[in-house]
Amino acid sequence: MITLDFTGNMSAARRAVFEASAQRWDGVVNTGFDPLDVDGDTLTGLVIEASIEPIDGAAGVLGQAGPTALREDTGLPVKGVMQFDDADITRLEAEGSFADVILHEMAHVLGFGTLWSLNGLIAASGTNDPRFIGAAAAREFAALLPDDGPFVPIANTGGAGTREGHWRELIFGDELLTGFLSGADRPLSRMSVASFEDLGYEVDYTSADPFVLPSFQQLALMGITEAVRICDLCRVDRPIPRMVPC
Ligand SMILES: [Zn+2]
Repeated sequence: MITLDFTGNMSAARRAVFEASAQRWDGVVNTGFDPLDVDGDTLTGLVIEASIEPIDGAAGVLGQAGPTALREDTGLPVKGVMQFDDADITRLEAEGSFADVILHEMAHVLGFGTLWSLNGLIAASGTNDPRFIGAAAAREFAALLPDDGPFVPIANTGGAGTREGHWRELIFGDELLTGFLSGADRPLSRMSVASFEDLGYEVDYTSADPFVLPSFQQLALMGITEAVRICDLCRVDRPIPRMVPC
């Protein structure tokens, strides 16, 4: 169960985007667990501190998003932060991608990409072909592409936070959790849902969107090439989470 703790001034319309995102992820993962005392509060789910405030104007950093405190027993997040620059959010709203950016970044707060290394879920780190080795995601990847061997290709380009923290864009295209926002629909695949099972969540596969691998032609039409593109999602800093004893 995700609870949002809004700090600063945020419009009702922007809060609604965060709320809708939390509701979507609540339908994907089951984050209810035994009550835990964190900083004087008794928490039974994940609390995300959310804010949109001036940081450094358009471009520069988009903000920071990620887990800030993990339960020692399960290693799953109990607290997280999503803080964004007002100037960038205004532009994302104009482009129509604000809601998908929030949905994408909330996945990182839940642990997508941010807790993979800690959980030993990455193989061939630092090579041209790093893979996510969780068993559930591997099963779903095999259903998408039976011929490629067992593990899921993850981002092999981009800076820290992008590389090895997303699905590989040139293969998965417009899927919500590649390192770039591409296409118009940005489906959340069963493979993404499975990756949360690999982190230790209970998940609901019926919450996934229909997804098939795009063809090379479809990738090209989405503007996905080897060339480095403008990457909003790369400009998000990740906090380093602390461990909370249970
Ligand atoms: Zn990301």
